[in-house]
Amino acid sequence: MKKIGLIGGMSWESTTIYYQLLNRMARERLGGLHAADLLLRSFDFHDIERLQTAGDWDGLTQMMVDAARGLEASGAGCLLICTNTMHKMAAEVQAAVDIPLLHIGDAIASAVHDSGATRPLLLATRFAMEQDFYLGYLRERHGIHAVVPEELDRMEVHRVIYEELCQGKVIASSKQTYMQIIDKARSDADLPADSVIFGCTEIGLLITPDDFSFPAFDTTVLHAEAALTFAGY
Ligand code: GLU
Repeated sequence: MKKIGLIGGMSWESTTIYYQLLNRMARERLGGLHAADLLLRSFDFHDIERLQTAGDWDGLTQMMVDAARGLEASGAGCLLICTNTMHKMAAEVQAAVDIPLLHIGDAIASAVHDSGATRPLLLATRFAMEQDFYLGYLRERHGIHAVVPEELDRMEVHRVIYEELCQGKVIASSKQTYMQIIDKARSDADLPADSVIFGCTEIGLLITPDDFSFPAFDTTVLHAEAALTFAGY
């Protein structure tokens, strides 16, 4: 079994979910007292958010590369970046280490293809919804043409992530807002979405796939499952 190296703390609210999921699923797969063999580098998200907002992606890339190298040196056999947004520098992180970085987009793509969905709505940070590193990865690597909400809705999805979910606040009115944004995308006259990607690792705190009668993809769950399988559990 390989040790799984986690680059987390972005935010720790979702790293906690990764930690629970990886351990629970390891026990489900192996039984008894089994748990996942993990290494964690957990950042202070205050620092990360300030650099994101300042657009210092080079500084953030260096931090992610240093974390990856540290986990590799500590014995990790594979790596997870426990956030969708910070996959912006996935290629640089992968190039800096010899162990595989398990890309969150690959885990999502398998689930989207398995479900038969073709046009998922992506709910994520503005960085992931508005830059091309995430949408482009899904499109070019996997042929998935995701759609995003209109600008005001993107701003609200982003605000809820940073001002609420990453601070551990789960607010019913925000759930209603997310549901309305998803409904709007589903009934779009030109390009109706047929499914939804929770493209932020905290979104599962607010809504779950059980809330929907159509395919909904929780990236945190899919990423954790893919990691355990890769690591040999
Ligand atoms: N965890 C979130 C994500 O999956 C947002 C925090 C971040 O910017 O890394 O994108």
